[in-house]
Amino acid sequence: MNILVLNCGSSSLKFQLIATDLERIEQNADQRLASGMIDRIGGAAILNFAVEGQMMEKSAMPIRDIPSALDAITKWISAQSIEGINNLGDIDAVGHRVVHGGEHFSKSVLISDDVLRAIEDCIELAPLHNPANVKGIQAVREIFGKALPQAAVFDTAFHQTLPEKAFLYAIPYQLYRRHKVRRYGFHGTSHRYVAYQYRMINNIPRENVNVITLHLGNGCSIAAIKGGNSIDTSMGLTPLEGLVMGTRSGDLDAAILEFISAKEGLTIHEIEMLLNKQSGLLGISGLTNDMRELLAEMEESGDRRARLAIEIFCYRVSKYLGAYLAAMNGTDSIIFAGGIGENSPKIRAMICENLKWFGITLDESKNSAHVGGREGVISTEDSRTEICVIPTNEELLIARDTVRLIFNKI
Ligand code: AMP
Repeated sequence: MNILVLNCGSSSLKFQLIATDLERIEQNADQRLASGMIDRIGGAAILNFAVEGQMMEKSAMPIRDIPSALDAITKWISAQSIEGINNLGDIDAVGHRVVHGGEHFSKSVLISDDVLRAIEDCIELAPLHNPANVKGIQAVREIFGKALPQAAVFDTAFHQTLPEKAFLYAIPYQLYRRHKVRRYGFHGTSHRYVAYQYRMINNIPRENVNVITLHLGNGCSIAAIKGGNSIDTSMGLTPLEGLVMGTRSGDLDAAILEFISAKEGLTIHEIEMLLNKQSGLLGISGLTNDMRELLAEMEESGDRRARLAIEIFCYRVSKYLGAYLAAMNGTDSIIFAGGIGENSPKIRAMICENLKWFGITLDESKNSAHVGGREGVISTEDSRTEICVIPTNEELLIARDTVRLIFNKI
């Protein structure tokens, strides 16, 4: 089967076309056929498309909205020579990354009218994210017709196993009862995929998976996975809480909102934007949200604020690791994933520096050898807990969930 995986954001649309089916899933023989991304939707958009194994095609054109973006993608796919795809009719289903599933969805689902309404109901919990997902689902119905199976794979679903003591905030309980104010957690598809890969590599049953997974990319989160289930995670009601990220602040004192509002004359909404879009690595460094660029800046010119941003980033991760080692009463593995986690030995080393007291130690040469998607163990032989790198692949999991749903295997 050919599955189109879509990740619709407020101003971007990423896609992958993946050939997979139940047999291929079993044999780990799924095949990516094409991928791409449209950025800056709503204005002069930038398009980057590639057939697997070929050069990236880059172009620019005005793209108004998500339906126009999907139209551009489908036209491009139709015009390529891709194995097994002669026309759009060869696409068998679409899998969507949906950011917020609230308490309604604890696993992936096929999208019906009722499901679409429930995703719309979650818009108030994720006003920055869910509207784009809804538009993406509707655009697929327009282009492919309503009969094409569509699946929703939720960022929040994997964390629905969090116990109350981990998901409730210490605020009046009525706020949870009335408005469902609680920790939901995000990046669930990534944490779930990484935990699954760990299980496959070590050939152990799901209930024996006791790991801490670190998704460090432009967005960052950490999850404590015990007995195969997520029991705690750093993102909260929204993806703003927790670790320092590219442009998001992560944890802070809630009283800061009132204080900044009074001092800077900003509305709560403007401050929320500031915390989401102008904070984190970008806010501290004043330079960029891109970790690779910050590392280069620190190394080449010794830029003080680039260094500070990197130090604060790593310090926050170390503190969370300490907390989650206690939350889990120990772990079998600490797993790095995401653009930064998979590619930066320097950041991994800075984070693990403060774990030495626990007897958890990195092997310097293994650490520097695991970059560019190379999976493996990077801790020393005598480290109390293993540390490893497992590249994440959310799109693959979305494609696989879509297939499993179609065959009723979830
Ligand atoms: P993601 O959101 O998972 O694509 O990750 C994006 C982040 O990974 C950006 O901050 C990139 O700068 C960072 N990244 C990618 N490659 C490297 C690298 N070799 N060293 C450090 N950071 C990297």
